[in-house]
Amino acid sequence: MADKLNSRQLKVPVTNLLKKVFSRERLTAHLDVAVAEHGLVEKSDRGDLKLEVWLESSPDGVRVKGVIQGSVSMDCTRCLEGYRQELEIAVDEFFRRPGLSMVTGDGRRVTGAGVQEEDEYVIDEGTIDLNLLVNDAVMLSLPIKHLCDEGCKGLCQACGKNLNQGECGCIQESIDPRLEVLRTLLEKEED
Ligand SMILES: [Zn+2]
Ligand SMILES: [Zn+2]
Repeated sequence: MADKLNSRQLKVPVTNLLKKVFSRERLTAHLDVAVAEHGLVEKSDRGDLKLEVWLESSPDGVRVKGVIQGSVSMDCTRCLEGYRQELEIAVDEFFRRPGLSMVTGDGRRVTGAGVQEEDEYVIDEGTIDLNLLVNDAVMLSLPIKHLCDEGCKGLCQACGKNLNQGECGCIQESIDPRLEVLRTLLEKEED
């Protein structure tokens, strides 16, 4: 899939880190990402969304702890203009060694392939891929409404002009008061 975050900066080899249990390594990445329909996409290889984490090895895998901070580009759903959304997200996730036995929630110990939980991160061929982690963390932290501003006026229904940049001069059709009630109701539903 093309519209998926796939930054080389976020594919981190951890073979050496894992050789020494409880050792730590610092990782910093500067990303330039935009929010697309189904997730993040990378715009260039350097931007102002900063990932700053510690990687810490344990017998079971690698803990990733730190912060994602900065901004991502988004499009306002009302006026369609691009804007930047500021973010600050605490990160604390775990990448498990593949095929390692683990204790489940009810205390059973399970081993081998097939135990991977769907929302679990796994070390793949000595590498942790933080693309998925960054994508999940950012997408979950975004407000439900993607608006350049709470008071965004949107586009004129008639001529398409961005009304944040001023009036367009279109003659507003007079609205039947009964329809106005309906419109208010519909707008409430939208919220
Ligand atoms: Zn807007
Ligand atoms: Zn207009």
